[in-house]
Amino acid sequence: VGGGGGIVIDDDWPGYSLDLFSYPAHYSGDLDCVVVPHGVIMDRTERLARNIMDDLGDHDIVVLCVLKGGYQFCVDLVDKIKALSCNSNRTLPMRVHFIRLKSYLNDLSTEDLHIVGAEDLSFLAGKNVLIVEAIVGTGKTMKALLKHVESFSPKLIKVAGLLVKRVPHNSTCLPDYVGFEIPDRFVVGYALDYNEYFRDLNHICVISESGKTKYKI
Ligand code: 5GP
Repeated sequence: VGGGGGIVIDDDWPGYSLDLFSYPAHYSGDLDCVVVPHGVIMDRTERLARNIMDDLGDHDIVVLCVLKGGYQFCVDLVDKIKALSCNSNRTLPMRVHFIRLKSYLNDLSTEDLHIVGAEDLSFLAGKNVLIVEAIVGTGKTMKALLKHVESFSPKLIKVAGLLVKRVPHNSTCLPDYVGFEIPDRFVVGYALDYNEYFRDLNHICVISESGKTKYKI
């Protein structure tokens, strides 16, 4: 009801063939399929922006962009909210702040959350915070980040996640705004990386076995 959990992409959906879309030639052979084409990401993001505006419009918010993977989603989401602020009766004044996390080596989640260059977030006290994250897997990262942000006593915390993976035990920490619910496979593109590669790919794709081997460290 209402699409609260996002667009559901089933486990048995094979994805789109790479041949149906354009993508950088330097990644040929490195990808299995397209899971979410760029245009669909943009359309869904436009709707998420409207939902955020409906809930938070006329309040000031601090957008907390989770780097590096969240940068593209954050840029596009903020752009769509800006367009609504220009073209409707409501506005949503935004400040944008960045926090950098690191948790993956190759395609394996490492246990601990690293905040790279952790800084004092005490300016969040009493503010409405919108955390913008590209992907939620087990939810461990989001849980740890929420705890960290909560310790600075903001008035309100909302989370926008473009992708949520269907993995066991992640139901405890679902974003308030979800773009897509996807199968538990490692995806890249739209700023999501594999060892820093594939951020320069527009579509969200499944990496191939040979791609994993090629960029392994
Ligand atoms: P979690 O703690 O929820 O298991 O993992 C969350 C973090 O792992 C995300 O912030 C993201 O950086 C990374 N991650 C999880 N799944 C994927 C994936 O399929 N592809 C990429 N590139 N990163 C992922």
